[in-house]
Amino acid sequence: MFRCATAFVSLLAVLAVAQSADAQYLGRNKVRYNQFDFRVLQTEHFDIYYYADEEAATTHAARMAERWYARFSTLFNHTFSRRQPLVLYASHPDFTQTNVTPATPGEGTGGLTERTKSRIAMPFAAGLGATDHVLGHEIAHAFQIDIVKRAGLDAFALPGWFIEGMAEYLSVGADDPHTAMWLRDAAAHDRLPTIATLHDPGFSPYRHGHAFWSFVTNRFGDKVLGPILRSKVRNIPRRLEAATGINPWREWAKIELAGENGSYELPRARDEYAGLIVSLARQEHPDTSVFDDPEIVWRLEKAHHIGLIVRSPSPSRVDELLGKYVARALRDFHAAAPPQDHPSE
Ligand SMILES: [Zn+2]
Repeated sequence: MFRCATAFVSLLAVLAVAQSADAQYLGRNKVRYNQFDFRVLQTEHFDIYYYADEEAATTHAARMAERWYARFSTLFNHTFSRRQPLVLYASHPDFTQTNVTPATPGEGTGGLTERTKSRIAMPFAAGLGATDHVLGHEIAHAFQIDIVKRAGLDAFALPGWFIEGMAEYLSVGADDPHTAMWLRDAAAHDRLPTIATLHDPGFSPYRHGHAFWSFVTNRFGDKVLGPILRSKVRNIPRRLEAATGINPWREWAKIELAGENGSYELPRARDEYAGLIVSLARQEHPDTSVFDDPEIVWRLEKAHHIGLIVRSPSPSRVDELLGKYVARALRDFHAAAPPQDHPSE
């Protein structure tokens, strides 16, 4: 389940906290004191569940949901093969009683998209703008889940910053003062995460992830998001960096700073191809010096692992090298599991 802190309901926080405490005390059995009499509104792509209290607002939400669907469907060149369930609650306390998931949503949870059926559950937020944001964020998750699933993979295995940051970028757009403020502060205090440390709890998967995707799409266009979701290579940022010669994360921050202090010129992007191989190794510190082609631009430093990134102007050279390395890794280093990543262009 993606539990999303996309909107905060401060007015009702006290009540919501009290309910979470009850729910924790009683284990997984939620106290349900309201029986909602749900009705269904069917739009072109959604089955929207709502009850009498929210009838008027639901008509607005239905229009907003279809608008997001049209936008994401074009952007990702993807359509759902089934109708999308969307369960709307009139308020945050009502939402905490959702039976879409056995867990009780916390006070900071603005909406959620659950795993098995990708059902979306959310309360109306304070104002249409905030509701539209949460809707866009959750519908972005439904697209992520469906696209990744159709590629034979699992969106829930992707890092939080990757998934949440992208959903924020898609629902907020590139320019968000909130994200920019976080970034400026981190850059000014020299506390910027690297891609490798982005998953640390000290960094916000929403704000720092949003910054990452804003930069990537600004540089490479929105159309890059679909292929990145469909890619079977796990270490996408590194691959992007090796292929373009740009560390998207650091450059974004420098641009942000330069916006106030002067001009900043992006390093010229290399129009090259890159590939990654990672494998578990039998040896604690495998000696990877046997891989000595000049195209190697990065080596993984981790016990019981070997990992390499190669870069070349020629995609067939990348394929050739990765083919050679996979064979060699399997023979000389490989431990239990098959290589995690497969060569691809
Ligand atoms: Zn989310």
